[in-house]
Amino acid sequence: MYYPEDIVAEVRSRVDIVSVLSRFISLQKKGANYVCCCPFHNEKTPSFSVNPSRQIYKCFGCGVGGNVITFLQKYENMTFPEAMEYLAPIAGVTLPERDNSEDARRRMNHKMRLYEANRHAANFFYKVLWDEKYGTPGMEYLKKRGLTDETIKHFALGFAPMNARGVIDYCRKNGVTDQELLDAGIAAFSEKNGLYSKFWNRVIFPILDDKGKVLGFGGRVMGDGEPKYLNSQETDVFNKRRNLYGFNFARSSKKDRFILCEGYMDVISLHQAGFTEAVASLGTAFTPEQARILQRYSPNVYLSYDSDGAGTKAAMRAIEILRQYKVTGRIINMKPYKDPDEFIKGLGAEEFEKRMENAEDSLLFQVHTAEKGFNTNDYAEKTKFHHEIAQFLAQMEDPLERDNYLDAVSKEYGINKEHLREAVGKAALALADKKEWEEARKTGPKKNEKADYMMQNEQLLLTFLIEEQGLFAQVEPYIREEDFSTELYREVAETVFESLRNGKVPDPADIISHYEDPDDQSNVCALFTTQIQDLSGKEEKAKAIAEILYKIKKNSYERHAGERGSSMEDIQTDLKEKQELEKLKKIVIRL
Ligand SMILES: [Zn+2]
Repeated sequence: MYYPEDIVAEVRSRVDIVSVLSRFISLQKKGANYVCCCPFHNEKTPSFSVNPSRQIYKCFGCGVGGNVITFLQKYENMTFPEAMEYLAPIAGVTLPERDNSEDARRRMNHKMRLYEANRHAANFFYKVLWDEKYGTPGMEYLKKRGLTDETIKHFALGFAPMNARGVIDYCRKNGVTDQELLDAGIAAFSEKNGLYSKFWNRVIFPILDDKGKVLGFGGRVMGDGEPKYLNSQETDVFNKRRNLYGFNFARSSKKDRFILCEGYMDVISLHQAGFTEAVASLGTAFTPEQARILQRYSPNVYLSYDSDGAGTKAAMRAIEILRQYKVTGRIINMKPYKDPDEFIKGLGAEEFEKRMENAEDSLLFQVHTAEKGFNTNDYAEKTKFHHEIAQFLAQMEDPLERDNYLDAVSKEYGINKEHLREAVGKAALALADKKEWEEARKTGPKKNEKADYMMQNEQLLLTFLIEEQGLFAQVEPYIREEDFSTELYREVAETVFESLRNGKVPDPADIISHYEDPDDQSNVCALFTTQIQDLSGKEEKAKAIAEILYKIKKNSYERHAGERGSSMEDIQTDLKEKQELEKLKKIVIRL
């Protein structure tokens, strides 16, 4: 870590999470907590909750959670030291000189420097576009594509002139080093040319993250040069898999849906026509990471991919990825036009909205697309096609949904419904086997429902332990760190037990700060915010705790018993634990 742990703890303890978060989101008091609609996923009723006594936040919708520092990292994209520097003045703490090695400091600064370099380059391209002498080809192109001045400014479009050194000179003048130009992908180096920009004679589309920082560029060549579109390479700040073009605007469109398209121009002309929910993947196929980003904001994605063969194929892949993230994909029919840009120009926004209303369900789109690959007049081919349908249906996990489709498809193609159901059942089994096998290869044995249930019990126990001061003394004789079922939980339990043994109330916000991975942070947060609904009084709560304690202990016993052999020692341990477990059945908790 960049700052000594005690300084971090001091800064954190001197600021109030509610007042800091209130600078960014509008919290409402509700009981002992504060709530609002979650800033990390799209929702209409608030499930984002801030707990001032524990100094943590937690979203019961999407599961994110953490302390005041992780909030700044997540919401404001700050690095850890940046968050500290932001909070220190509020806390009235003077931070020590950053005394870490030159190397660590350099790494931290490096990303910031690349953002800076990109910002200067974007400024240069933007200025050139509006320059009458050098920018005319670019401006003419954009006007021909029907973009207004306002749109061009909104997306900060630019132009890279014929001279491939202009941007380099401009960035250098603004203090960007040659190494940074290379690292940001703005420049390349060759023996013959020295430092030169890969972007020349191209219209420039700056790619921004959701905070408006410039990550990289896309460039459309003027005339017939190759390649038609050129993108910045991946850099320390530009990850193509994790970003979407237009998302910085689309995330706040308030429409509870996204339109996914293929190109920069599609996104821009859709936004210009009022569809500010349009995004595109960045010169690559749609990725699972991108699906996850969209899913956090809305479960509805409309695909408006090119209506040619390649576009259809890409749409088929995107549908499957979206389905894995429980996002409903629908396909917009753009015929007779090739892409949304042409469609809007041809038929206008109103007609596009109508096409969205009539968008085809993704499964039926898959079936209809597959149909084209078979000659259904041929008996054998027809059977193959029906098996293909079964494959698609098998991917539906919800039985009701699956049944509805079974109905629709068997009617449409005159297939006997029961036969189709049978084929789907077989396909589903084969699919489950395959999934399990893949899963096992990736992560070892599959996590099952029982494991989830146990983890929930363990979460509850830890939540109760910090809520109820007198509880630990009563359960201490029975519970140990090893009784928790995952490494992360064991670690947290150890910390919690240690504070309680020393008579201190554990500090969830502090425990969270020991974890760097955002998923770990959210999981740790869940350990302190789990609740049972409908517990009417102390007595009922005490009963629930006794029950939970027994379940955790029993699960732990079973886990360990499975590993024991038949030595005398093992048998004795086993016996002792069994007796303890029996005793635990009768435990009475008093709150
Ligand atoms: Zn959320």
